[in-house]
Amino acid sequence: MKAMEAPARRVAVVTGGSRGIGRAVCIRLAKAGYDIALNYAGNAAAAEETAGICREAGAAVLTVQADVSDPAGCDALIDAVKAQFGRVDVLVNNAGVTRDCLLMRLTEEDYDKVLDTNLKGAVFCCKAVSRLMMKQRYGRIINMSSVVGLRGNAGQVNYSASKAGLIGLTKSLAKELASRGVTVNAVAPGFVGTEMTDAMPEAAKAATLAAIPAGRIADPDEIARAVEFFAAEGSGYITGQVLCVDGGMAM
Ligand code: NAP
Repeated sequence: MKAMEAPARRVAVVTGGSRGIGRAVCIRLAKAGYDIALNYAGNAAAAEETAGICREAGAAVLTVQADVSDPAGCDALIDAVKAQFGRVDVLVNNAGVTRDCLLMRLTEEDYDKVLDTNLKGAVFCCKAVSRLMMKQRYGRIINMSSVVGLRGNAGQVNYSASKAGLIGLTKSLAKELASRGVTVNAVAPGFVGTEMTDAMPEAAKAATLAAIPAGRIADPDEIARAVEFFAAEGSGYITGQVLCVDGGMAM
């Protein structure tokens, strides 16, 4: 299906764009010529810092506080982007949280927090952009999964389930939207240096590091490179795929 004439600048929405991998994605896409809608949950100072870097790179930037674990937050986010830019070319479902513990100690609250943010948030952000992307006959949706969604991890039943769920979402929605010029893919990072992994106990960090063939943790920009690849106009024939960026963990 042929896309409409390409706009002067494409618009990328990044959930959880204030810090970590999301920040690296915003900066990389801004440098590549996208305008950026940067969503965050509560850390306005980090969001403004990221927005400033993106503006210096020449992007128009909208920061949107919205809780993506609530479908109303997803709708409010996408409505704000449409009002500002009139289009959404790229959606990166990156916002994510962990509440790690063994299943025996898992509470319903910690299950819901992780599934609602990581999986439900992505589903309802996809829903909020899908009609517009179909109308545009153009869209790139990229879901931030994880190596643990493919391989599992003791102590992360809730998180692994959310990340495996994102892969099911990616493949199903890819089939629904392929004929409309909209691709849906997932990136599955391994162990990346962000505040999420800084919070891990030292013993867990050492065990994870020992399982990485490359022998080091990733820089967030190494994950952002994969997002940029899927986001590109020239990647239009690639859909329903999961790209591991994990130093060889999930071969
Ligand atoms: P991070 O540094 O903890 O940053 C999390 C981001 O998500 C922040 O921008 C945060 O916003 C946002 N966020 C959290 N809950 C939200 C909500 N309900 N609504 C909107 N935004 C929300 O995490 P990260 O390490 O960069 O991880 C980013 C993504 O990569 C996550 O999906 C994570 O599961 C995935 N991942 C990470 C690793 C890793 O090793 N780090 C590995 C595999 C996959 P605030 O700043 O406002 O709090």
